[in-house]
Amino acid sequence: MTIQIPRGTQDILPGVVEKWQFIEGKAKEICNKYQYREIRTPIFENTELFLRGVGDTTDIVQKEMYSFHDRGGRNITLRPEGTASVVRSFAENKMFGNPTQPVKLYYLGPMFRYERPQAGRYRQFVQFGVEALGSMDPAIDAEVISLAMDLYKSLGLKKLRLVINSLGDNESRNAHRTALINHFEPRIDEFCGDCQKRLEKNPLRILDCKKDRDHELMKSAPSILEFLNEDSKQYFEKVKQYLSEMDIDFIVDPTLVRGLDYYNHTAFEIMSEAEGFGAITTLCGGGRYNGLVEEMGGPDTPGIGFALSMERLISALEAEGINIDSKYAADCYIIALGDEARDYSVSLLQKLRQAGFSSDRDYLNRKLKAQFKAAERLGAKFAIILGDEELQTGKITVKNLDNGEQSVMSLHNFIDEFSKQCR
Ligand code: ATP
Ligand code: MG
Repeated sequence: MTIQIPRGTQDILPGVVEKWQFIEGKAKEICNKYQYREIRTPIFENTELFLRGVGDTTDIVQKEMYSFHDRGGRNITLRPEGTASVVRSFAENKMFGNPTQPVKLYYLGPMFRYERPQAGRYRQFVQFGVEALGSMDPAIDAEVISLAMDLYKSLGLKKLRLVINSLGDNESRNAHRTALINHFEPRIDEFCGDCQKRLEKNPLRILDCKKDRDHELMKSAPSILEFLNEDSKQYFEKVKQYLSEMDIDFIVDPTLVRGLDYYNHTAFEIMSEAEGFGAITTLCGGGRYNGLVEEMGGPDTPGIGFALSMERLISALEAEGINIDSKYAADCYIIALGDEARDYSVSLLQKLRQAGFSSDRDYLNRKLKAQFKAAERLGAKFAIILGDEELQTGKITVKNLDNGEQSVMSLHNFIDEFSKQCR
C-alpha cells in the first residue's frame, strides 16, 4: 500500500512554491519597510506555554493542540500559533531591556492545529505575523494594521474589509463581563457546553461561539463599546483617527472578539469579500494583549500583533483572479553533442554558475532536438551549443531562445564574452 500525506496537510510543489516564495519575499520586504525584524522560535514548545499564553477557554487549547510526551516524559506541543512563543522569547531574552524600543518582531512559519480539514483550514498551515512590544501608543496599533493591509494590497487584493473593535482596558472589560454574565446566565442552558463553561471563565468568548452564533441572545448582548471608560474610548478614537489619516478604510463591529483571553483595547480582522472565497472569509486576525508579557513572567509590557495564514491569502488571490507569475526561468542551458563536448560542459557549467548565471545541462544523453526541448521547458534564455567540432575550432555557438538570434564566441574567453554580451 502506498503511504499518503497526512490529512489536513499539503505538499507545495515546484511550480507553485515560487508563488509562496514571492509572497514570503513581499512580507519580508514590507517588514523591513516598517522596521520589524525576524524572530525564529522553536516549532515545539512546552505545553504549559500555550495553556498560559493562549488560554484554556480557547478552541485552540481545548481541542486543537498536537500535544505529546517526548521520550523524557516532557509534555510538548507543536505550536498552534506564534504570539505565545514570541512573548516567551521576549521575556526569556529580556528584550524589554533592548536599547531599541518598542521591540518590533515578525515570524513566518508552520503552525499546527488539529482541526476538521476543509477549504482554508489545514492541520499544518503557515502563518506570517508581527508583534510590537513595549508601546502603548495608538499609532502603533494603526501601524500594525497598516502593515497587514499593505501586504494584501501590495499583492493586488482589492476586495478587503477591515473590521475593528475595542475591548477596552481591564476596568472596561470587567464592567462588560458582569453585564454579559447577567445577560446570558438566566438562559445559559440553551447554549452549548463550551459556552456554559465560558460563562464564568470568560463570557466574552461566548460571543465568538460558532455553534450558538444564531441564538437570539447573541444579537441583544450588551456591546463592549457601551462599557468603555474614558481612557479606553479616547484610545480607540485615536486608533480610528490614525487609520483614517492613513487612508485605510475600516468598519467598527462591536461584536468582534478575538479568541485569545488576553486581548484588550484594539481587536481587528481582515476579511475577503471576493465572491467564491467560501465560507471562511477571515484572512487575518490581531489585537492588543497588554497582560500577556506579565503572564509569561516578564515585566508589565503592552503588546499588539496579528497573524495571517499564507493558505488563506493564496485562496483570496485565487478568488480575485490574481495570478502571481511563478515562472522560474534559467539563464542558460548547455546543449552538448559528442563525448568530448559533454565532458567539457562539466567545467563550462561550473564556470557559468560561478559567474552568476542560473544554468543547467542535459544529463540524459538526449539528442539535439530533445536537448532544445529541455532548454525550452526550463524557460532558458540562452542555449549554449557545443559539439566536438566546435571544441576543436575553439568556438561556441550561443542562441538567444527568445528571438532566435545566434552568435559565435571564442571558447577561451567564453565567460567574459558571454557576460559582456548577454548579462
Ligand atoms: P478561525 O476563526 O478561522 O478558526 P482563528 O481565530 O482560529 O480563525 P487565529 O488563531 O486568529 O485564527 O489565526 C490567525 C489567522 O490564521 C486566521 O485569520 C486565518 O487566516 C489563519 N488560520 C487559522 N487557522 C487556520 C487553519 N487551520 N488553516 C489555515 N489558516 C488558518
Ligand atoms: Mg480556529
